[in-house]
Amino acid sequence: MSDCLFCKIIAGEIPSSKVYEDDVCFAFNDIAPQAPTHFLVIPKAHIGSVSEVSADNSAVVAHIFEVIAKLAKEKGMESYRVVSNIGEQAGQSVFHLHFHVLSGRDMTWPPG
Ligand code: 5GP
Ligand code: ZN
Repeated sequence: MSDCLFCKIIAGEIPSSKVYEDDVCFAFNDIAPQAPTHFLVIPKAHIGSVSEVSADNSAVVAHIFEVIAKLAKEKGMESYRVVSNIGEQAGQSVFHLHFHVLSGRDMTWPPG
């Protein structure tokens, strides 16, 4: 999608601190980290949010979770949180599906 910030990051039109990349997904450090480790994992194909996941594209989401597990192991992350905000009230500000991966500090539950 031409006017999507994360599509531009995938295309290299906007620089990012890359953590991982394959044919299906891209991972990069969040520009405003909320924890010592805070990266985002996104599909290369534009999907607006979890609410647009269906039988047609859910294999991408399964793959992303395999990648998250692999990266967490590689980075020695024993405890971490995976978050996806859906819609403005839940805190979504970029409307390209992304999973926040946060680690390295105590976290509260329930979230604020
Ligand atoms: P959301 O609020 O949609 O759940 O998460 C969007 C995330 O994207 C935020 O945590 C925000 O800091 C991050 N973000 C916004 N713009 C950029 C950018 O240009 N580069 C990077 N690396 N992260 C960004
Ligand atoms: Zn996009």
